[in-house]
Amino acid sequence: MQEVAQRKIVVLGTGGTIAGSSPVRGANVGYVAGQIGVDELLAAVPGLAQAAGGTLVAEQVAQFDSKDMDFATWARLAQRCAAHLADPAVAGIVITHGTDTLEETAWLLHTLLDASRPVVLTGAMRPATALSPDGPQNLLDAVTLAADSTARGVLVMVAGAVHGARDVRKVHPLRLDAFDSGDAGPLGWVEAGQVRWAHDRPPGAAWAGQAAHAALVPVLGRLPWPRVEIVMSHAGSDGALVDWLVEKGVHGIVAAATGNGSLHRALEAALARAAHAGVRVRVASRCPQGRMLELAGAPWRHAAGLSPVKARISLLLELMADSAGANRVKSGLEPFE
Ligand code: ASP
Repeated sequence: MQEVAQRKIVVLGTGGTIAGSSPVRGANVGYVAGQIGVDELLAAVPGLAQAAGGTLVAEQVAQFDSKDMDFATWARLAQRCAAHLADPAVAGIVITHGTDTLEETAWLLHTLLDASRPVVLTGAMRPATALSPDGPQNLLDAVTLAADSTARGVLVMVAGAVHGARDVRKVHPLRLDAFDSGDAGPLGWVEAGQVRWAHDRPPGAAWAGQAAHAALVPVLGRLPWPRVEIVMSHAGSDGALVDWLVEKGVHGIVAAATGNGSLHRALEAALARAAHAGVRVRVASRCPQGRMLELAGAPWRHAAGLSPVKARISLLLELMADSAGANRVKSGLEPFE
């Protein structure tokens, strides 16, 4: 009777514009993000409990502007999601989040969580005190999606569209429909309280969380996070930044390359020096659309078509998993004890 038991939707609040407020009544900009508690956000949306189809449970995990996202909050959020997903009564999770780094958190959670049920991130482009805030509708749609029995994996719900964690990006600084999945397109839509999947069917198993680094979740917060930086290839690149980062002890570098992975020759030479010094290098395209193809004989591993910010997260977790493995061997401890 699992169907009957799974009737709890958990809403984890982290702040953002959706929880923002302005002293100037009706202002759309110049507000302070992360001011209104998650309980108050839920209370402001009529019909939310009905959309959840059961109990709504709210938890404040953080309360800030997501431009300031940090490793400690990521660790706490991933662990709270994992704990709730381990509860068979939880049908789905909604995370209210600032839009600035929403795609990064979505990719992090996609890589960490065994999300056999939906984990839906949502946010807003206008503060809760705006004349016409977009947060309440986004929250209602996110709860509708989290309660849908055909949904799974880490999803993003903004402006009526459902996006997957891999392809979604914030593409506009102001408009309400600020997220886009490029060539991939949205996975679906929520319309008048109903989920409509693109091509009339749920996107399938491959789109659900791959949980490549699920074993890291219990130790996040205890292990140090490696230092991974993004360096962009552009006209006039000279590679000096890369040399400086190596000197400062950087562990990984993602090169945001032009086009299909091309790098300024000066930057390429500096990256070769970095790799020689033991720094892990990945190449991602700075193009906002499409997926970079691997070039035969290229000296770098490409980032599997990820954007530079998501490639950085994958490299962070990869390095952390390696170091967890190495510590284990050194200390003789059981995996991730
Ligand atoms: N700066 C805000 C944040 O990311 C923007 C937003 O939520 O739309 O928290």
